Amino acid sequence: MAVNKVNRLKGTQDIMPDEACLWQEIEDIARDTALTYGYRLIRTPIIEETALFARSSGEESDIVKKQIYSFPDQGGRDICLRPEATASVCRAYIENHIDKAEGFVKLFYSGPMFRSERPQAGRYRQFHQIGVEAIGSYSVYLDAEVIMLLDDMLKRFGVFGHVFHINSLGCAKDKSAIKARIRQALKPSLNSLCPDCRRRYDTNILRVLDCKAPACRDIIADIKLGNTLCRECEQGFSTLQRLLQNACIEYAVDDRLVRGLDYYTGIVFEVTSSALGAQDALAAGGRYDNLLSDLAGPRIGATGFALGLERIIQAIKDKDALKTRGSEALKVFVISLGGAAREKCFYILSVLRKKGIACDMDYESRSFKAQMRHANKVNAGFVVIVGDEELAGGECILKDMKDSSQRRIPFDGLAGEFNSVKMRTKRNA
Ligand code: AMP
Repeated sequence: MAVNKVNRLKGTQDIMPDEACLWQEIEDIARDTALTYGYRLIRTPIIEETALFARSSGEESDIVKKQIYSFPDQGGRDICLRPEATASVCRAYIENHIDKAEGFVKLFYSGPMFRSERPQAGRYRQFHQIGVEAIGSYSVYLDAEVIMLLDDMLKRFGVFGHVFHINSLGCAKDKSAIKARIRQALKPSLNSLCPDCRRRYDTNILRVLDCKAPACRDIIADIKLGNTLCRECEQGFSTLQRLLQNACIEYAVDDRLVRGLDYYTGIVFEVTSSALGAQDALAAGGRYDNLLSDLAGPRIGATGFALGLERIIQAIKDKDALKTRGSEALKVFVISLGGAAREKCFYILSVLRKKGIACDMDYESRSFKAQMRHANKVNAGFVVIVGDEELAGGECILKDMKDSSQRRIPFDGLAGEFNSVKMRTKRNA
């Protein structure tokens, strides 16, 4: 009987080893950069109570209304696959009483997110974000710091030519003033807006500015917003711009920039890249001073960003440079000639691996030539060769693949030969 093939779900991807090297490298660079700026790793669950996102993102946000993967679990609880991580990090902050223990923290995360969107290039149902959250401060220096950290990460990944768009939604009073201004400006064109925006007009007016429908975009481009910031927020926004200029970060002020989620307040930003297609946003973030208290936590300020890994990979020009670094891991390939030698080689692998030296061998009794070809293919730095003659003499041949030089080494001295190699990890090579 024919067996049906099971395929991956729509909007998900298999990251095969060649590309996974690149992912690994990007995550390593992101982690190292975040650590340099004093951000520490946090891991939160992938499943959460749906209520967490309904409360944080807003019942009317697209994430909650259309995109959340929620379902009842066996116990009848309404749970979901997380659509983003900021709310989870804030929940963890509150649940672990970090406000009492540390107060201010800088956190970094990386992992899969899930949104039930219409899949297209650059838009997936399972995608991956790297993000940071600085929780416990209202300082504008942190808004500048997260933008500088993001810029630094992007450059270290090899992404160039990206643009920062920044805006300030101001304090709660300013945000209400902006909403009122938009509502008034859009009133005459209400019937020309898309059905979603007609609904948003009453429920989530800021999101109209974010709409990608061509008719809405034209209407939005024509409305005049003017300055809606109070003195204090205006000053904060000017300070941010000065700090970014001092750091030589190019930005454009965009008074139409809002973020799709209710919890954003104050300074918000987005990074776009011309290397991407229609989905040109590489990363986005901003301040969310009300979120912790909305989740029954303390009233404290916070800011952060999330970048999309799939889009970063798409935007990196020189993928091969990163890929080669990631695939350099295998240092030694052990070649056996004959059945008895194979058992010895298998033992040699176990000795080298226990010392942390990455190595492998052929398990298919292939010819010497075929094994050498494989050693080249996997980029081995060294080849160890064992045949009957070497076995009898208690030694092996060590070949340096860089200059093809080779010499004989006693079996028990082999691991010592790689001591210096072992220390040369791909990061400090
Ligand atoms: P957001 O959490 O919506 O602010 O998105 C932050 C970043 O995550 C975006 O700038 C994208 O790079 C990425 N992103 C968001 N949604 C998706 C998706 N469905 N597929 C791939 N990347 C996404």
